Amino acid sequence: MSWLVQPRLVNDPFSDPGVYLDFRYGRRAILFDLGDVNALSSRELLRVSHVFVSHTHVDHMTGFDRLFRLCLHRPYPLTLIGPPGFAAQVEHRIRGFTWNLLDENSVDFCLRAMDYDGTRLAKAAEFHARQAFARREIEPPVFPEGLAWMEDEFRIEAVALDHGIPSLAFALREVLQVNVWRGVLNELDLPPGPWLNEAKRAVRLGLPDDHPVDIPGRTRIRLGDLKGSALRIAPGQAVAYVTDAAPVPENRAKILQLAREADQLFIEAVFLERDRPLALASLHLTAREAGSIAHEAGVKFVTPFHHSARYLSEPDVLREELFESFRATDREVMPA
Ligand SMILES: [Zn+2]
Ligand SMILES: [Zn+2]
Repeated sequence: MSWLVQPRLVNDPFSDPGVYLDFRYGRRAILFDLGDVNALSSRELLRVSHVFVSHTHVDHMTGFDRLFRLCLHRPYPLTLIGPPGFAAQVEHRIRGFTWNLLDENSVDFCLRAMDYDGTRLAKAAEFHARQAFARREIEPPVFPEGLAWMEDEFRIEAVALDHGIPSLAFALREVLQVNVWRGVLNELDLPPGPWLNEAKRAVRLGLPDDHPVDIPGRTRIRLGDLKGSALRIAPGQAVAYVTDAAPVPENRAKILQLAREADQLFIEAVFLERDRPLALASLHLTAREAGSIAHEAGVKFVTPFHHSARYLSEPDVLREELFESFRATDREVMPA
């Protein structure tokens, strides 16, 4: 099994939340949340094409300045997606700097900021370096309901959780995993080459079996014939990211849907169950609830983060409580 992305926490679980999703073929990455990103190298940050921000509490957004500054000399755009009001907040952040040194000879770095309202992208703005980052309204891309982004290979599902304010949770879902059997390719006397990428793309797009695939220097072959032989098709990878959510049934239901059967779930585990009053007051999940959600969602791997500093002297207790609850077979004992 080869993954589309390699996801990992940006920081240790007591520091700012965030997940870096590195694409297998390099040159590209996605970030969930934008808190302290000093643990990432400049090279890693320059690969980031899209950032999905849960909400703009300071521990989820302070990395903006470093990322933005690094990208100033980058010719390709950076897209940031966050909750309602996000594009305006990004604009205010940019307006806090002075841009008199930019002109028509500058690299025309373009920043895009978009609001996701819980079901769709509702607003979008563009900021170009050559226009001193003046705000320009653009039409937000139109995706099916519940998607914050969509490309040929993957989609980003998003839901708005209750954290006193909307806090977005995200799941990257690879459309389909399409791999090539090299041995079969040789047996069929078919040459490797860029045509295989076109064939894989046709499979992901769900094109019909009689769709013709051109092989340079050869005859055409039916997509259906490749699917039955040289192409191996499997369900795609799913990675979910859930943070800053009140421990209430409405949030639980939304998270279960978002994280269903995910290969990997990154989920906040802020307080121990014994401190549930604190979790309720600050609108965060307990470790036990996070573990039981991961269990019920049927995820393969779960990674806890966003630990409260009150447990620094016993750093493993939150992880232990989460895994105990995740592994439990008797769901009846879990909090509803
Ligand atoms: Zn928060
Ligand atoms: Zn937070």
